[in-house]
Amino acid sequence: MIKEINLKEKTIKYDFQQKNVKNINLRIKYDGTICVSANRRVTQRDIDVFLRSKEDFILKALKKCAEKNNEPCCEYFRQDEIRDVILKLCEKVYPYFKERSVKFPMIKFRRMVSQWGNCHYQKGVLTFNLNLMYAPKECVEYVVVHEFTHFLHPNHSKRFYDEMAKILPDWKCRRQKLKEISLRGLAD
Ligand SMILES: [Zn+2]
Repeated sequence: MIKEINLKEKTIKYDFQQKNVKNINLRIKYDGTICVSANRRVTQRDIDVFLRSKEDFILKALKKCAEKNNEPCCEYFRQDEIRDVILKLCEKVYPYFKERSVKFPMIKFRRMVSQWGNCHYQKGVLTFNLNLMYAPKECVEYVVVHEFTHFLHPNHSKRFYDEMAKILPDWKCRRQKLKEISLRGLAD
């Protein structure tokens, strides 16, 4: 349900959902959508008071989103480009892994429903989802680095993420963006 509130500086719209959360949850998505959820005992007045107390935070976050979305980074690729783009990204990140004795893998492409990519580390094969054409470049790069990192750590341990952070310090932000693109519904 979309609601509206007049804050001191501006009127904002937010997407409200009643959920089984502790009190009130506030989340601002990277595209600037404000999501508020609260349990059924929370009144509209409580929500208003809460949002007013968070005005500074909300406005700052919205400003950040606006700046981010204006960056020319949100680049998407066509179906006939995506294979080349992924191969180039593989070549770009490979030197880091070469130094760690990883052999250049065989790169495969498929349409997949439940994953963006996978790493068969014993066989030295990386498979990428062709639906990555629906993701911006920064997310495609995240998937490439993620799958390559599995050659060093074939799991999602802390060491895996620490390693990935050395190449992509902002990997969390990229992963979040990727999560917001629904995999289901993209498959053929
Ligand atoms: Zn993984």
